[in-house]
Amino acid sequence: MLDLVKGIDAADRYPVDVEALIIDYSRNVWPGDPVLEIVSEELEGFEGALVPVREKGGWLIISNSAARDGRRRFTVAHEVGHYLLHRHLLPPDGIRCKADSVGRAAGQDIEKEADEFAATLLMPSHDLRRQIDPKAKPTLDELGALADRYGVSLTAAVLRWLRHTERRSVMVVSTEGFALWGRSSEAAFKTGRYFKTSGEPLEIPATSGAAQPHLVDECRAGIAHPAGVWFDEEVEEFTVHAAAFDQAITLLHLGEARPRWSMPVEEVEPDVVDRFASLKRIR
Ligand SMILES: [Zn+2]
Repeated sequence: MLDLVKGIDAADRYPVDVEALIIDYSRNVWPGDPVLEIVSEELEGFEGALVPVREKGGWLIISNSAARDGRRRFTVAHEVGHYLLHRHLLPPDGIRCKADSVGRAAGQDIEKEADEFAATLLMPSHDLRRQIDPKAKPTLDELGALADRYGVSLTAAVLRWLRHTERRSVMVVSTEGFALWGRSSEAAFKTGRYFKTSGEPLEIPATSGAAQPHLVDECRAGIAHPAGVWFDEEVEEFTVHAAAFDQAITLLHLGEARPRWSMPVEEVEPDVVDRFASLKRIR
């Protein structure tokens, strides 16, 4: 619809102005139950919220004011997803979404659906494929340009790209030498290349760029690692150290490999729950 209204190549097609869009759209389609206002506030422990405003007959969307613009845009789009898909299912005081259930497409049920909605609205598949070929091996700089186009965080753009690529690639977010969470492309997951981050703290390799913040240029240009560093195979690593968050975002490109089907189901972690779903489909 936005392609039709704006034009597929219009200069103002991206980033999507989610706030103006939902205010306008909901007023027209559900005049008795619209999104009335979108505000940014301090939200202790939460990233976003969708709250009914009974006296006015409508809804309020709140995003965490501590987050950066790209992250806030995704959060608002996630709450718009709740408004469109779930507002009739919510408890009387609405819904508050925790930081780790917004943006990682790893939450359960309605959180996962709201994330899927947000990612699809902000970074539609047809446009993403025009920007980066599914067979291409982008650097983090190139994925950063994608993040700028869509007005989202780098991690949101990398996650979306991982869903579309035909390559074996893995993202891992770490802090002070330990992995916080990770995500694999489908091709990487099928060959057993993913990180388990929900158990014991997972130490990242000492010789990796992610563990060596001073290697800024090397991390940006790409580091070729032999087998035995990240995985039991050669890996090309790109890492960005986000000093403001004390976090490193790492993208690992692996070579071609045959799928490995013997992965035990109980090893599958929530971080990779959507990959599990695709594995079941193939079986
Ligand atoms: Zn949510």
